[in-house]
Amino acid sequence: MNEKMATRELISVDDALETILGDIKVLSSEMVSLEQSVGRVLAHSVKAADSMPPFTNSSIHGYALRAADTHSASVSNPVTLKVVEDVSAGHVGQFEVIGGTASRIMTGAPLPIGADAVIPVEDTSEPWRGAHRPLPGSVQITRSVSSGDYVRYPGEDISAGDEVLSAGHILRPQEIGILASLGISVVEVVRRPRVAVLSTGDELIGISEPLTPGKIRNSNGYTQAAQIRQMGAEALNLGVAGDSKEEVRMKLEEALDDGAHLIVSSAGVSVGALDVVKAVLDEVGEVKIWRVRMRPGKPVTYAFYSGIPYLGLPGNPVSAMVTFEIFARPVILKMAGHKKIHKSTVLVTTTDTIISDGRQSYIRAVVSGRQGEYQAQTTGKQGSHLLMSLVRANALLIVPENRTRVDRGEQLEALMLDWPEIVF
Ligand code: AMP
Ligand code: MG
Repeated sequence: MNEKMATRELISVDDALETILGDIKVLSSEMVSLEQSVGRVLAHSVKAADSMPPFTNSSIHGYALRAADTHSASVSNPVTLKVVEDVSAGHVGQFEVIGGTASRIMTGAPLPIGADAVIPVEDTSEPWRGAHRPLPGSVQITRSVSSGDYVRYPGEDISAGDEVLSAGHILRPQEIGILASLGISVVEVVRRPRVAVLSTGDELIGISEPLTPGKIRNSNGYTQAAQIRQMGAEALNLGVAGDSKEEVRMKLEEALDDGAHLIVSSAGVSVGALDVVKAVLDEVGEVKIWRVRMRPGKPVTYAFYSGIPYLGLPGNPVSAMVTFEIFARPVILKMAGHKKIHKSTVLVTTTDTIISDGRQSYIRAVVSGRQGEYQAQTTGKQGSHLLMSLVRANALLIVPENRTRVDRGEQLEALMLDWPEIVF
């Protein structure tokens, strides 16, 4: 069987993803204090016990009055109202506003009974500047207002009983503000996935070691741990196992002892004589997928090890990072309870001609917006050992299966690594 025929029998990226994601469940939840909850994912929906705003109040500094009293008011013919009291934020007025009267009111203060509108101080004869201005006995109103002007009503933002946030919502500062305003100090969030990262290969040395003949520093372990942490999950860096089944097994047992929800490894899953990761999984794991119709990243292996999902990713640094983006990322985001588990894609016009081999290809590129359209320029040589091709990129152009050539000027989907785009 030639390579092309063999390739046809591999599983497609989409089918592989469907199989993998079908096995993955959202993790259980835990309680965290509101102050520690930024970036976490809500495990349950949240209902409001109170309405927001909770009471009718003024949206400006001004005078609370009856709109009907101002109908004839203008600069040349102002209406004079008697001022009965000051109503400041945090305090409730003592007097009813009756016809011909007004109360001076501050932003956020409760609207006094009888009033149905507020006139801004700027539209009166008393545009106060600064604090401690004495309460005037009367005020001249220089324009008309309608009932409801500058008034904020209860429940305009949230009504008591409303579902304000649903399960899967990511807690950003604004969600935390809403929860704070509703008096919620502890929230139930999905646990952070714990992801073990294993780097394999006799050639790998620690990053503080000097290079010696035949050796390279372990970069994949760091890239992958960073990918995990960037999405809010916990990375458990197991370091390096040499090309021996015993060493790999020892590390995998460590991952189990540490309570990993997912194990990700790089290298050792191809067809080499020393591809021991695949051998270990064949012997003591349950391999569900081996090799995907994609480029880079064909050797991707999906398995279970002692009941824990396992993604054996290829060793070349670009393949390791790209396959992590395609497979590990959605798995981790699904475990973490996210609603959106796939990165955004945009339609782009390629400014280069791209040659592919019929496998789904992920081409490193820079996407930029010009005159409302996105253009993509590839970052040059695409060898899967060239990590700088990813350093220069903000997107992966997806050349679909069975396409062997995309001409300059044609449109492609781009998977955005950084979105919104970062500027180069
Ligand atoms: P393998 O999948 O074991 O055949 O490895 C493929 C290529 O990736 C080889 O050139 C390895 O040296 C390289 N490689 C494997 N693991 C790492 C790593 N952790 N960091 C950097 N390069 C690696
Ligand atoms: Mg190797």
